[in-house]
Amino acid sequence: MNDNAPITDLKGVGEKSQKLFEKINVRTVGDLVNHYPRAYESFEEPVPISETVPGEVCAIYASVTAVPGQKKVRSLVIINVLVRDSSAAMQLTFFNMPFLKKLLRPGGFYVFRGLVQTRSAARIMEQPQIYSIEDYRKQTGVLQPRYSLTKGLTNHAVQKAVKQALGLYEFEEEFYPERILSEYDLTSIKDALCSIHFPEDTVSMQRARRRIVFDEFFSFLLLLRKNKELSARLENGYPMYETADTVRFLEGLPFVLTKGQKKVWQEIRDDCSGAFCMNRLIQGDVGSGKTIVAVLALLMCAANGYQGALMAPTEVLAMQHFDGISSYTRTYKLAFHPVLLVGSMTAREKKEAYRKIASGEANLVIGTHALIQEKVVYHSLALVVTDEQHRFGVRQREHLAEKGHKPHVLVMSATPIPRTLAIILYGDLHISVIDELPANRLPIKNCVVNTAYRPKAYEFIAKEVAKGRQAYVICPMVEEGELEDVENVVEYADKLRAALPPYIQVAYLHGKMRPADKNKIMDAFAAKDIQVLVSTTVIEVGINVPNATVMMVENAERFGLAQLHQLRGRVGRGEHQSYCIFVSANEKKQTMERLGILNKSNDGFFIASEDLKLRGPGELFGVRQSGDFAFEMGDIYTDAGILKQASDAVESLLKEDSELASDKNAALKRHFSATVRNSVDFRSI
Ligand code: ADP
Ligand code: MG
Repeated sequence: MNDNAPITDLKGVGEKSQKLFEKINVRTVGDLVNHYPRAYESFEEPVPISETVPGEVCAIYASVTAVPGQKKVRSLVIINVLVRDSSAAMQLTFFNMPFLKKLLRPGGFYVFRGLVQTRSAARIMEQPQIYSIEDYRKQTGVLQPRYSLTKGLTNHAVQKAVKQALGLYEFEEEFYPERILSEYDLTSIKDALCSIHFPEDTVSMQRARRRIVFDEFFSFLLLLRKNKELSARLENGYPMYETADTVRFLEGLPFVLTKGQKKVWQEIRDDCSGAFCMNRLIQGDVGSGKTIVAVLALLMCAANGYQGALMAPTEVLAMQHFDGISSYTRTYKLAFHPVLLVGSMTAREKKEAYRKIASGEANLVIGTHALIQEKVVYHSLALVVTDEQHRFGVRQREHLAEKGHKPHVLVMSATPIPRTLAIILYGDLHISVIDELPANRLPIKNCVVNTAYRPKAYEFIAKEVAKGRQAYVICPMVEEGELEDVENVVEYADKLRAALPPYIQVAYLHGKMRPADKNKIMDAFAAKDIQVLVSTTVIEVGINVPNATVMMVENAERFGLAQLHQLRGRVGRGEHQSYCIFVSANEKKQTMERLGILNKSNDGFFIASEDLKLRGPGELFGVRQSGDFAFEMGDIYTDAGILKQASDAVESLLKEDSELASDKNAALKRHFSATVRNSVDFRSI
């Protein structure tokens, strides 16, 4: 069976399952084989009830003390069972499983395995799995793959399909030359794919994972090198020079630029007036004031008679930039004629925007990546700024070049990356760092707490709102898929509404909402009509509402510190004291210590490198540090070691055979051109 065989070619996968698989982006057998587990579960030795840890999945071996009690709440049948071992007793709750009443005999011993939670100081489990001790023993120590799912598709069904597919699959020929395989001790593709799904043990799983991550980084870095060659010596087709406009704007601003901002502004002026095209990354912690630097560059561009574009990863962020720059334009009488271009605009509005862009009437275009789509014809595009969009893809650059533009490129990012990693990942860009925050900021006050603290946190939020401030609450995540995520946000918002005084307006935001609806909510939040915003991490990037002073993050233990730091960056942007409450559902010492780093520092660079030290590379499917780089499996932080190796491998390979022309690199060349064709893009948003 080859890569492109539809999954219905597998036995037992009919039209109904096909639809479900499609929801998790699995259409072909190739997709399925490359649908890696998101975690593994290994059945652990049962522990005494007294030693179970809230927030962790545990197994207990205990006896049923009495006939299970049954309750009905609306359409829900609730079964409560009290079980006991020699150390303590525990309450178990099951939903809609009335048959358990008969199945669980008083006096019978079973293994119960599930997430341990606390309810009014007692430890409980909801919906634990039930095994006989014999069955349980058979499975202890075996790593069971857990896949991301969608409603109606069980983990078991995916496992079965994957197993079948692996048996029938034609694995790709090995593409690395022998030297790379041995030097980096890489296992074969076949072994990697089989073991990533059904590892014999942790060691073989790690080896499989290493190969897959290496491949991801390797192709990315090879592409990066191409990009670098493409852009390094690009002649400056749009020389520009500072005019009185930027000077006047700077004089009018209510603040002076920090030293870091001044330095970057100088670098941009040097680039744009130099012999070559600008290709620069501004890296600066959240709140360091990158936007104003971009506005200066765009203003210089407009004043020199060219068009500039500002591209943001989300509509919400694009609108925020549009509003901000429009208001600067009015206040300081700037030479901008800005136009907005986002997906949710009506066809008529878009047509009008296209017209203004093509005629040159608009000299600043702000939007999402609708900006570089087919239909947009620029009059004189000379500068593209991308905000919080960490790669401006090779494709996009090629695309613009085809249309006759080779604009200057400025990329802005708040992702704190240690310098060594930045050099590898942004090898094709010149890097500027803004390493200080504006002086008027009060440091954010942080606390790391457990879930019992929730009522106090809500009280605190109510108090801040009473003072006229606003709050964000990042809601707990759920394991299974996005659909459930939506329900989850809605439910949490209801709960919060009930817990807060009635005059507080609570709204929610999640990734599945229509952009226009998201924009409405964000506008209302910016206008203070909404005081508390419950959200998934969609608000992570870029949002600037200086009046918001509380950020409460549920399930903080599941995030990487770098991402938590990004979330924290949504507050502390104005003159008021701001607070961050990290709620952890897991009280393990390690977790609390890790989160404690956030307590110690407000410095993103420091946090990212501490996290890197603490975790060390190769940790089992660690917490995802950041979604910035769209690698399927690799994580730039936890896999920094592999990243370094892949980078060395690419270097030495190209040094020896820069065109991959030799026989021993022929397979690699074939593989690489196929990957590049198939992949959406190596741009990440
Ligand atoms: P980020 O770097 O996270 O994108 P922004 O550019 O959104 O940060 O800036 C955050 C806030 O700081 C904005 O409200 C901006 O007006 C303000 N700001 C920018 N530069 C300075 C400065 N030099 N002094 C004081 N405030 C500044
Ligand atoms: Mg920003």
